[in-house]
Amino acid sequence: MSAKAVENSATPRVSFEFFPPKTEDMETRLWESIARLEPLGPAFVSVTYGAGGSTRERTHRTVKRIVDETGLAPAAHLTCVSATKAEIDDVIRSYWDAGVRHIVSLRGDPPEGIGERYTPFPGGYENAADLSAGIRAIGDFEISVGCYPEKHPESASLQADIDHLKRKIDNGATRAISQFFFDADVFLGYVETVRAAGITIPIVPGIMLQPNFKGLKRMAKLCGASIPDRLDRVFDGMDEDEKTRELVTAHIAADLCHALKAGGVDQFHFYTLNRAELALATCALLGVKPEPAKAA
Ligand code: FAD
Repeated sequence: MSAKAVENSATPRVSFEFFPPKTEDMETRLWESIARLEPLGPAFVSVTYGAGGSTRERTHRTVKRIVDETGLAPAAHLTCVSATKAEIDDVIRSYWDAGVRHIVSLRGDPPEGIGERYTPFPGGYENAADLSAGIRAIGDFEISVGCYPEKHPESASLQADIDHLKRKIDNGATRAISQFFFDADVFLGYVETVRAAGITIPIVPGIMLQPNFKGLKRMAKLCGASIPDRLDRVFDGMDEDEKTRELVTAHIAADLCHALKAGGVDQFHFYTLNRAELALATCALLGVKPEPAKAA
């Protein structure tokens, strides 16, 4: 066992991502999931911002309710898409006024869809580096940004991508959360490269808990994340068997986290898709259990 792994035998820290619900049923499911995950004592919970800025109000409402009704520290996702700097600055200020102290600062994808050419909105922030500077100018927020172990699809090279990550950090980012991936060595190699480039902020792996394997493959293709062939073989023939896919998904996520933990990783960010079960199962396999005081 490496020295890093020994150093890292402690229970990892976790955080969870949710998306703002569209319907009453989804709303119920989200709040049930939050109630079930809160006792795990996450470092923070983040709420996404819909493509094209489509969920601005819903994201704000969800984040505000987390502040008002839970003991959790929320992180509000914010993108540069389809809004002027003045409009985005108003959103940032309203988060500050609501007691929110953590923003996930993102460029966002083109409103025409992933893969289309990105053009900054007239009078808007250009990219996540520019937005991070805007957030920093407004308040002493914790600022998380995205990072891409397999490089962002629009980036010319991994080095160009890391140079851009540096710009985001120079402009105020305090943590990077990664795009999802399924090969621990890819992430660990990326962290090594990032550290060699002089970047010292936490690089937190984003762990996807998506049991819809066909949907996951479509999404992965769009965002440049590779899916190992072995997962094709595992999920083959399970299209009609959602329950088994869920069990397998939690198992795969826990295996990935164990491999990352052995490589020195001590924080995980879970893409929960607003469902508590898979996150609970994966966390249990990692030894992250409800804190008795909070569960009471
Ligand atoms: P940036 O880091 O600004 O740019 C993306 C890439 O483009 C860079 O990595 C770099 O390679 C290149 N690039 C951009 N500008 C320059 C420049 N000036 N010079 C050189 N290269 C440049 N999307 C949503 O719509 N809502 C969300 O809530 C959301 N949450 C996310 C959470 C996480 C953790 C991650 C990883 C992604 C999330 N996304 C979300 C998706 C994200 O918006 C897309 O991946 C988008 O295409 C890039 O956003 P970014 O913040 O990484 O952009």
